[in-house]
Amino acid sequence: MSGEDIVLKIEDLKKSFGDKEVLKGVSFEMKKGETKVIIGPSGTGKSTLLACINMLVVPNGGKIWLESEEITSVKNLNKIRQEIGFVFQDFGLFSHLTALKNVMIGLTKVKKMDKEAARELAMAELRRVGLEREADLYPAQLSGGQKQRVGIARALAMKPKIILFDEPTSALDPELIGEVLSVMKNLALSGMTMLVVTHEMGFARTVSDEIIFMENGYIVEQSSPEEMFKNPKNQRTKEFLFKLN
Ligand code: ADP
Ligand code: MG
Repeated sequence: MSGEDIVLKIEDLKKSFGDKEVLKGVSFEMKKGETKVIIGPSGTGKSTLLACINMLVVPNGGKIWLESEEITSVKNLNKIRQEIGFVFQDFGLFSHLTALKNVMIGLTKVKKMDKEAARELAMAELRRVGLEREADLYPAQLSGGQKQRVGIARALAMKPKIILFDEPTSALDPELIGEVLSVMKNLALSGMTMLVVTHEMGFARTVSDEIIFMENGYIVEQSSPEEMFKNPKNQRTKEFLFKLN
């Protein structure tokens, strides 16, 4: 693969479940520091695409590269998965662990970091998402927005090459969405490479470098936010954006 600044490259990715074709040949790439937002109707394959990128779901065809490594042919996926952060819609926190321990666990168990170093790094990431004072609270004691910020801190602590976000604010009460989007915006500004599935068009418009509109297993249109919102080329994109307003 050429181009040193390409973090992720996806080529003709296909995935079926039984006889249901969900991804029908998806291709795009992400440069270092780029934020891309994926939009599109529900059931279109957005989550399946993200799950394929860290090989939680194994594609039926096509290739994925993380930097120069073709991960679709790698046998040991542990290292790859450490390099790809994932932020889930439902947070995915361990309920029996404090916020701090939730952030530390990947560092001690997966990266085999010693406890003190892990604690220090985890605290730094909690500080970064504004949750230093909540470190010793359990998920049940946190608001949804705080839980999701712990989820982001946990991803960050692993020092990933890219972070995938699957509808990170969809499970939140409206008044809690802003604090999560603001953390994500700061991350994007700090140079993190981010691929974000979201329905938050304000975020898409102001934070993303590029928007991908997916429908029915295909990328229908891919362009800058200005282009996508002012002058969508495809009729399906127009209809989708129109329905949101
Ligand atoms: P989106 O995230 O865009 O809403 P998904 O990727 O979740 O779409 O789902 C796309 C389609 O694939 C849906 O029809 C869904 O039911 C189907 N699907 C997703 N995961 C599985 C699975 N593990 N087994 C069978 N079908 C699945
Ligand atoms: Mg989804």
